[in-house]
Amino acid sequence: MTIPAGLLPADGRFGSGPSKVRAAQVDALVAAGPHVLGTSHRQAPVRSLVRRVREGMAELFALPDGYEVVLGNGGSTSFWDVATACLVRERAQHAAFGEFGSKFAAATTAAPFLEPSHVITAAPGSIAVPEPAADVDVYAWPHNETSTGAMAPVRRVPGSREQGALTLVDATSGAGALPVDVSETDVYYFAPQKVFGSDGGLWLALCSPDALARAEQVESSGTRWVPESLSLRTAAASSRQDQTLNTPAIATLVMLAEQVEWILGNGGLGWAAARSGESATHLYGWAGSRPWATPFVSDPAHRSTVVGTIDLDDAVDAKAVVAALRDHGVLDVFPYRKLGRNQLRVAMFPAIEPDDVRALTACVDHVVEQLASS
Ligand SMILES: *Cc1c(COP(=O)(O)O)cnc(C)c1O
Repeated sequence: MTIPAGLLPADGRFGSGPSKVRAAQVDALVAAGPHVLGTSHRQAPVRSLVRRVREGMAELFALPDGYEVVLGNGGSTSFWDVATACLVRERAQHAAFGEFGSKFAAATTAAPFLEPSHVITAAPGSIAVPEPAADVDVYAWPHNETSTGAMAPVRRVPGSREQGALTLVDATSGAGALPVDVSETDVYYFAPQKVFGSDGGLWLALCSPDALARAEQVESSGTRWVPESLSLRTAAASSRQDQTLNTPAIATLVMLAEQVEWILGNGGLGWAAARSGESATHLYGWAGSRPWATPFVSDPAHRSTVVGTIDLDDAVDAKAVVAALRDHGVLDVFPYRKLGRNQLRVAMFPAIEPDDVRALTACVDHVVEQLASS
């Protein structure tokens, strides 16, 4: 099996996280070398890096008045524990339609100090939406379910504010490339290794005044032990000083600052969303025109413009396609491991050139043809 060099993408990284890191981000690391890498995170150079990230995010998301950019260590998975410990007062409702939404639901469900969570589920490939419920104080769902390639609207549940409930949206793979009105959420949280093409290990959360007040209230109630590393109040206080509670990965911050400024310099969220949208229009159009390929998400409105999932006909072995691509440096287009489908999953984050997505589908056409004739 050989893929002609002329068909190959200029960059073969299509993984949904960690995802493609642009060369300019690596250059920024080299430039930061002697002044920033390996220096104290309590001193001005690293703190100004954190400030660039916080200011960049505030601009990118047109942060509403009173909202704050908070960050801490541990990635989005840790933020689920932060939210469980500091933001859910008694009971959470989750809309879960894939692995990531289900994992946050599992975290609140396992918390011994909370009432059993309401979990509204939908089959992978579709979406579930939250429903008004009088006995919940948090509504939670993912913006983009990375495990299935389904994206959901970000809109408050009617009446949720009046009942005093918070809206928490996991935007780990959507933030920075999906249009959003952050005022429809109390916490819009994410990690740097998806759209922001950096390394993992941090969480970032755009927090409303109501969310910060809830953390203050829950954490000072004296009835719940909140470990300091999971304290949102502590993370917010550190973030206001352009610091983190404990040592962050400085290289991640360098790459993240570079990426958010790259998106802003090109026109911001609208530009990023359009770029991912161009890739997505191509990918789904291509899949729709091949007899052996079908977009996994049946409702076009819910097909993610950042992570595309394409089912292949049983006659075409996706594992063989993925392996042939990998042999040629075209990487990580396997489906989410627990989904177990005969599928390709393609990240279309802004860092990934739309031309490279076009090259990828040409490579898949070539490989499928070769497999059929072998
Ligand atoms: C990747 C991902 C996570 C997990 O992020 P970590 O930083 O690895 O904890 C959570 N939610 C969604 C939607 C994701 O895509």
